Amino acid sequence: MYRFAPSPTGDMHIGNLRAALINYVCSLQDNSGFIVRIEDTDKERNIPGKDAEILEILKEFGISYQMLYYQSKNLKFHQEFAAKLLSEGKAFLCFCDEATLENKKQIAKEQGRAYRYDGTCEHLSADEVFNNPRPGVVRLKIPKDADFSFDDEIKGRVSFESCNFDSFVLLRADKTPTYNFACAIDDMLEGVSCVIRGEDHVSNTPRQNLIRQALGYNSKIKHAHLPIILNAQGQKMSKRENSSSVKWLLNQGYMSEAIANYLLLLGNKTPCEIFTLQEAKEWFSLKSLSKSPAKFDEDKLAQINREHIRQASDARLKQLGFTKPELARFFTQEASLITQIKEKINKIYSPKIIDDEWQANAKIIKNALLELVENKSLPDDFKQLQNILSQKTGLKGKAFFMPLRLLLSNASHGPELSQLYALIKDDLKEILK
Ligand code: GLU
Repeated sequence: MYRFAPSPTGDMHIGNLRAALINYVCSLQDNSGFIVRIEDTDKERNIPGKDAEILEILKEFGISYQMLYYQSKNLKFHQEFAAKLLSEGKAFLCFCDEATLENKKQIAKEQGRAYRYDGTCEHLSADEVFNNPRPGVVRLKIPKDADFSFDDEIKGRVSFESCNFDSFVLLRADKTPTYNFACAIDDMLEGVSCVIRGEDHVSNTPRQNLIRQALGYNSKIKHAHLPIILNAQGQKMSKRENSSSVKWLLNQGYMSEAIANYLLLLGNKTPCEIFTLQEAKEWFSLKSLSKSPAKFDEDKLAQINREHIRQASDARLKQLGFTKPELARFFTQEASLITQIKEKINKIYSPKIIDDEWQANAKIIKNALLELVENKSLPDDFKQLQNILSQKTGLKGKAFFMPLRLLLSNASHGPELSQLYALIKDDLKEILK
């Protein structure tokens, strides 16, 4: 079972989408199933409506799932498991107040060492625990022989020094679970067998494994941590950068097929450059992913977008708002984004902007053209059209070509007119109106 576990705390980041896509493709390969879990336990950071937005994006990308979970619905399990760990002596209550902990963190900082919880409450007497007036947090007891290493499907063996880990918090004083506790339990309850997520979670994996071990869960969960995505300057792509937001990319005019293609291509060795999700299912392997960070290149995405527009079916292009699919494909020679291409097409059908210099001749050519339209005698071939018009109007050279171009394309330079003519011939009446 694979899963995608987004937090509804902001716009979906391309790193999240990449994780969703890869989990989904892997689940299609081994048929083990795919679930989505909205990790909504951080009430302060949740943004209303972001869950629906994430689900909408998954739909748009053709990612379907067997089950949809909301982490907050598992709260009673999180609390019950915390109680179980406490009763078995695998976790303990800690009553240290914020100010004391803050002070210890400060001292550690001044001494130039990383702060780790010092175990103050690990050995309290029963009396100290039961008569404590403060609400306690639940911390995990780290076994002496705890193993902090694991095998990563991309990185290979990942090991951490035990000094990096302390008795971390499982349940806060308000009885809500921390991310690691909720995530470890939910993956266990939901039967997840492979976790593929961003590299920023790599140090959470030993913690989550320790939690499940403490709970006596022995089924092996495989892990793969995806290298981070860098921007053009080589820095980690922050949530604030426009192009890191999936919604922004879609609004910008990138097709979901192209974004998916690009994200599966990123930092990967693939048998071809342009492919669909279904095609990727045939050959995708975590093993081909690079261990190093990948650089996000918007120009490359634009080029891939162009290819996907060219290859899209008429039905798909119509769904994207192109009433004339062939015109959309035609304009990929000039533009890569759906929005840019729509602008170019709309321009043809909009009132013509013609310089004074060409006004008079344009009027003559337009009338001649309209006459051909009325008589249903427009030739199929553009060369032939030029000959007929030139004869009819007595115009030639630039005085003929420029106004003709302006009438047909509403631009003084642009695509090959003979090709364009074939595509708009049947609309000339509308175009010249
Ligand atoms: N909610 C976490 C995130 O969005 C999930 C991480 C995970 O996949 O475990 O980063």
